[in-house]
Amino acid sequence: MKFNAKKFIENVKQKNPNEPEFIQAALEIVLSLEDFLNADPIYLEHKILERIIEPERTIIFRVPWVDDKGETQVNRGFRVQYNSAIGPYKGGLRFHPTVNLSILKFLGFEQIFKNSLTGLPLGGGKGGSDFDPHGKSDAEVMRFAQSFMSELYKYIGPNIDVPAGDIGVGAREIGFLYGQYKKLTNDFSGVLTGKGLAWGGSNIRSEATGYGAVYFAEEMLKNTNDELTGKSILISGSGNVAQFAAEKAIHLGAKVLSMSDSSGTIYDKDGLTPEKLDFIKTLKNIKRGRIKEAADEYGLEFLAGKKPWALKADAAFPCATQNEISGEDAKLLIQNGVKLVVEGANMPSSLEAIEIFQNNKILFAPGKAANAGGVAVSGLEMSQNSLRLSWTREEVDEKLKILMKEIHNKIVEHGKKDNHIDYIRGANIAGFKRVADSMIAQGFV
Ligand code: NDP
Repeated sequence: MKFNAKKFIENVKQKNPNEPEFIQAALEIVLSLEDFLNADPIYLEHKILERIIEPERTIIFRVPWVDDKGETQVNRGFRVQYNSAIGPYKGGLRFHPTVNLSILKFLGFEQIFKNSLTGLPLGGGKGGSDFDPHGKSDAEVMRFAQSFMSELYKYIGPNIDVPAGDIGVGAREIGFLYGQYKKLTNDFSGVLTGKGLAWGGSNIRSEATGYGAVYFAEEMLKNTNDELTGKSILISGSGNVAQFAAEKAIHLGAKVLSMSDSSGTIYDKDGLTPEKLDFIKTLKNIKRGRIKEAADEYGLEFLAGKKPWALKADAAFPCATQNEISGEDAKLLIQNGVKLVVEGANMPSSLEAIEIFQNNKILFAPGKAANAGGVAVSGLEMSQNSLRLSWTREEVDEKLKILMKEIHNKIVEHGKKDNHIDYIRGANIAGFKRVADSMIAQGFV
């Protein structure tokens, strides 16, 4: 029995037409597993790949709500419960107009491997809606969230499926979703993560994805006798992940040259200071404004409609969204001196960009490794909820650091190739093995 990744993917394409993002994510993972699968027939005999590629369950539902003008609006809600071999389904909810089944299946599929890498008992899932929170009042967001949860609550639970935030779902949305869950079930339990500190949330959960990405970058650099201190870095996005990647990078002495949103990029040649970053946090999290306002406030350059990838720097942290680095962008980054790329976002690099990074021996960390700190601290939030206690900031931060180091070690073990570490291969094999072995142990279910 021999596994042919290209043939396998052709079949996946036929079965899932119109799902380009899902096919992209599947291709990256399956191609990198080919040698590994052929070296050990047990995974082929148990048809692990054929099974893991299919979500265990996909729920699609109508979400009607009433806007401030009294008009009824209808959105589509989703939850993809992808794989529960190693724990309850776990993964964020995304509210963004581009959300569809392809996007959520790519995110859910990636999540299986990411969650496995954390070493915690977390299965893979993802969900969301094509609802756009931009420009909506708090009351509209609340009515939408309540309607969304009025259906979703039937399918989730602290030992079944534990959603969290993602693009467009931050502290405000998690609050409204949790309130409605509690009202419907009369149950105060850890069914969502990213909760407020006063009502069951964990210290460091907001910071975890961004901080974790920087801790991971430090491990990668340490492995090549280098460090982040003194490096100039480009960050895209100005949401949750970008803000805390910037915060930790500045704290460690790196120079953060850029942040962005969907309207453009701000460029600070001197490097953002903690004060400027605080302004951006308030602008984005409370005032819900556009990034240009930060450029106006501090006299920074604003590159309207542009991404940061044409700027000179040592490292890039894409922290906005999928496919934000094209092949052309990858070439530009390399020309401009970038030697390290750390994916804070999920699948921000296109397949073409990844090939270019790998051919040029760029130190490249895929999202499923570099941004695993978010779900790892979500796992710690679940543990604290079950134990009915709460760990200090210092305790959770220390656990996060250790988790990111352990993820790095696992990847190095499986990704060593001559004198180089292939972080994609290492992450996919290490993530796959734990889930696959658990699926074999549990039989054909
Ligand atoms: P937020 O909603 O907090 O921020 C998203 C940021 O990305 C905003 O600056 C937004 O700009 C920008 N953005 C979103 N869509 C686009 C687009 N199509 N084009 C250009 N810019 C865009 O989300 P998060 O920070 O939580 O998530 C960012 C990425 O990190 C996502 O890929 C997510 O899946 C991933 N991630 C998040 C985790 C978490 O814990 N939050 C965990 C692991 C991964 P604008 O405001 O203009 O829309």
